[in-house]
Amino acid sequence: MAFRVIPLVDQRRDAPLPVPNDGEAAQKGVLQDRRGRPLTDLRISVTDRCNFRCSYCMPKEVFDKNHVYLPHSALLSFEEITRLARVFVDQGVRKIRLTGGEPLLRKNIEHLIEQLAALRTPDGASLDLTLTTNGSLLARKAQALKAAGLQRVTVSLDALDDTIFRRMNDMDFPVADVLDGIDAAREAGLGPIKVNMVVKRGTNEQEILPMARHFRERHGGDVVLRFIEYMDVGATNGWRMDEVMPSAEVVARIGAELPLRPLEATAPGETAQRWAYADGRGEIGVISSVTRAFCSQCSRLRLSTEGRVYLCLFASQGHDLKSLLRGGASDEDLASAIRGIWRARGDRYSELRALQPQDATDAPAARRVEMSYIGG
Ligand code: SAM
Ligand code: SF4
Ligand code: SF4
Repeated sequence: MAFRVIPLVDQRRDAPLPVPNDGEAAQKGVLQDRRGRPLTDLRISVTDRCNFRCSYCMPKEVFDKNHVYLPHSALLSFEEITRLARVFVDQGVRKIRLTGGEPLLRKNIEHLIEQLAALRTPDGASLDLTLTTNGSLLARKAQALKAAGLQRVTVSLDALDDTIFRRMNDMDFPVADVLDGIDAAREAGLGPIKVNMVVKRGTNEQEILPMARHFRERHGGDVVLRFIEYMDVGATNGWRMDEVMPSAEVVARIGAELPLRPLEATAPGETAQRWAYADGRGEIGVISSVTRAFCSQCSRLRLSTEGRVYLCLFASQGHDLKSLLRGGASDEDLASAIRGIWRARGDRYSELRALQPQDATDAPAARRVEMSYIGG
């Protein structure tokens, strides 16, 4: 099966779209995009640096010693991030995820977490505050992250086998340290923990069952393992459709050994489809970004390390908020810019990809933003 990599600009922008802000949600003052999707979920990238070189994200050949990272002066300060986050919360955001690069590499990240944890919604509720990490520094930092107000973590882990894991992170980093990080996060109360495994056919598919068994036997329902389809993000990972293992195949492989039954989604816009082990010992999730697009439910906005807003993982261009911030804009100016950006949003890359003819040949990827720059 071949997929053509399609241009990032939504060329169907002129297609008829639902009229935004005309439904029940709008009557309640909810900000909606052109497809009626609310803005509820903010992902903040706090660094473009990482201590891993996962080939599907920051391949070593590209992110080598000559790669130029953002200078410190270009990064949003913690105060700038918190100010923007407050404005986003006033516009409807209820969940904030810190990401990167590797977010735990950002110096004093717990100070940012403290500031974000103090934010409140207009109703006075606290936010759902979480972080995605490769787990390499988690054993050292879990207690401090919890004390600062972080509620949960998601840990990325692609294999239990040490040789495969070292090869995939391409920095010879041992799997035992990440497993210690997961234990430390559990002990610190940063649960329920999600563990994300990107499945690449021919690279780590043999790890699907060992990972499923490990997390169910060791952690039962406290750790939820989620399998992610390898995505064509960025322009450097050399993505090929034949390296994508469809989630349906992952579920079938696990289900053949450990019977599964489907679960209902717990929240609107949930990207993972959930499956419970039939014997009641925990559950798994699958995120089928390639084979089952969930654009119609996508309520996420991404803020890059240098203060640009991206409306889609596959976007090639962002909207600069840093210039506004540093140019003396008021909170209302920022809110108005955010409303304008979100209302004009029509992105649905994965849906459009799925509409491509199956026999189309691969074309060169457009200059898409890298995952390590905007976070996952
Ligand atoms: N460094 C942190 C980590 O690895 O968890 C946070 C940033 S990383 C970009 C966020 C998530 O994106 C990770 O779970 C990673 O596995 C996922 N990811 C990166 N490239 C991907 C790709 N090509 N396809 C699917 N997931 C990808
Ligand atoms: Fe680093 Fe995360 Fe990308 Fe791996 S997936 S290279 S850990 S940013
Ligand atoms: Fe959201 Fe873009 Fe992914 Fe669709 S392709 S789910 S719009 S990030």
